[in-house]
Amino acid sequence: MDRSVYNLHNHTPFSHGAYTIDELCAAHHACEDVEFAGIGITDHLFCTPSSREIRSEREFDRVFARETRNYIDAVHQARRRWAGKLQVFCGCEINWPLNKDKLDLIRTRLNGIDYVLFEFIDWAGLTQLANQARRWPCPIGLAHTDVRRQFPTTSMDQVVRTLANARIFYEVNVAFLPLDQHAQWLSILPNHRVAVSIGTDTHDDLSCIAQVRDVADYLDSVGLGEKYVRPQPRDAAAAPSSSGRGACATANNRSA
Ligand SMILES: [Zn+2]
Ligand SMILES: [Zn+2]
Repeated sequence: MDRSVYNLHNHTPFSHGAYTIDELCAAHHACEDVEFAGIGITDHLFCTPSSREIRSEREFDRVFARETRNYIDAVHQARRRWAGKLQVFCGCEINWPLNKDKLDLIRTRLNGIDYVLFEFIDWAGLTQLANQARRWPCPIGLAHTDVRRQFPTTSMDQVVRTLANARIFYEVNVAFLPLDQHAQWLSILPNHRVAVSIGTDTHDDLSCIAQVRDVADYLDSVGLGEKYVRPQPRDAAAAPSSSGRGACATANNRSA
């Protein structure tokens, strides 16, 4: 099957994954069940439950600016090593509750980050994010979000319209398999301009990589196979204003 499949959610020892970037790349490259065109590394950046408490914006910047740069450098180096074999994107995962008050600062520290996954966002958070979505320098999406559980008092229709209007993409995580459990949501999505990604949230078990096959087959079957988000590699040195979200090729294309 000649489709471009990407797994855009993987952790390395930079946050709490067990496998290095190269080990993850090798595992995807060697996978016999899925022909991967590329992968995304999405380690946790900025505040996490295990980071120490940050009291001021200045302290936030001092603590996280350097480690963010180191992370981006490491992923960009791996991108060069794997060029021609596997595309390597430099994403990140951000804990919404712990960082929602620092987003103005975080947005200025994302040079070289190709896309952002937010986790643990609630409905109030999603509306806040949607209102500022156009100010982000790269595509933004929701990680492993079970819509019914995470937005229990909001209709799926309202959720999907919010994602579509703000061009926020939606990750279908292999942890949701079998996807029949999510059939209601996944039958609404194709009717709206919402881009999707596939993610495994790889930590210490590489067997999840082959499960991407089942997700991709399901997404094909419901008409979402044409709606994958296509992040674009962003130069680490680019000024924040010079690289807009229009760099995204499909449904997330802001310049369209
Ligand atoms: Zn997560
Ligand atoms: Zn994750």
